Amino acid sequence: MKIETIAIHAGNVNDEGTGAVIQPITMSTTFLREADGSYPSEYIYSRSANPNRTQLENVLAKLENGVDAAAFSSGNAAGMTVFQSLKPGTHVICPDDMYHGLRNQLKTLFAGILEFDFIDVNDATVLEARIRPNTGLIWLETPSNPLLKITDIEKVASIAKERDIKVAVDNTFATPVCQQPLALGADLVMHSSTKYFGGHSDLMGGALITPEKNDWWTKIRQIQEMGGAIPSPMDCYYLVRSLKTLPYRVKGHVHNAQLLAEHLENHPKIESVMYPGLQSHPQHEIAKKQMQYFGGMLSFCVKGGAEDARRVISKLQLFTIATSLGGVETLIEHRASVEGPDTKTPHNLLRVSVGLEHIDDLIADIEQALE
Ligand SMILES: *Cc1c(COP(=O)(O)O)cnc(C)c1O
Repeated sequence: MKIETIAIHAGNVNDEGTGAVIQPITMSTTFLREADGSYPSEYIYSRSANPNRTQLENVLAKLENGVDAAAFSSGNAAGMTVFQSLKPGTHVICPDDMYHGLRNQLKTLFAGILEFDFIDVNDATVLEARIRPNTGLIWLETPSNPLLKITDIEKVASIAKERDIKVAVDNTFATPVCQQPLALGADLVMHSSTKYFGGHSDLMGGALITPEKNDWWTKIRQIQEMGGAIPSPMDCYYLVRSLKTLPYRVKGHVHNAQLLAEHLENHPKIESVMYPGLQSHPQHEIAKKQMQYFGGMLSFCVKGGAEDARRVISKLQLFTIATSLGGVETLIEHRASVEGPDTKTPHNLLRVSVGLEHIDDLIADIEQALE
């Protein structure tokens, strides 16, 4: 089945009791047990499993072409589960451009527990030179946040496989509509469901998807259940509902992002535009090879400094000034000031989560703001 069909059907079961076409929300935290100690349904207690979470995990696994998925209460909880699943002392290689929340998590919560390096993972020479005997995981994020750098997943996976190192990919920016890392050799996919999966800036969630049920996956499931960073039945319900329109929403985001990127690239007040769908993007060829679409995120640098960038956003009427991404409304932010003092992000950079408004209205707004 194609992804549009999976998105609609894989997460739904008709309710046998009532005939409801849409699966009901099961708020119950606990499930009936027989006097003999057995459980008549597969459910026991909602931290371990809940019908709405099962349905969400089914659709997530199928969307990424995996065999199983685990849903979490946030993207960071999903990321933390991956890092907690590693043996203390494991060396982790991460990209130099990485979601700052997970970079800070590693540096703060995992200091002294794991070893890590932040490098240009796309440079095979650098990557191979940094691999140590205790390297257990290469973490990838492509397109990256906020520079939209592209990493060749297949190339990194083949380097890792030779040395028995696992590769996990944060696929939040791309979504499985644009890119399917498991098919390119990744061992695990991670998502912040808060972004395109939820799609309406109104719920938080995270996910991990595996291509096989191996020992690593057993450990991840244990952390999910014993750690308990699980999404509520309500959030699972809303996510299953939102995922039904994911393919069409993403295609709309992609359409607008490509047109906005092309428009901004020719603008005299703009220094550079970072979007993998542009010919001028330094890794455009890799993006073409591994992505079906180029995603809905772009960044651009205004000519001048931080003040010039802030002046542009202060004049925007339609673009909402806020962090986060993946919602139907266009969001713009001055990324360096969100990331804090140790940021390497240029101070004239603005990051845009291109929404589903009409592209003409978006272009008109940015035109007047740049005047
Ligand atoms: C938002 C985000 C996360 C973290 O997800 P939360 O749901 O905010 O915890 C991780 N990676 C990327 C790329 C993100 O954009």
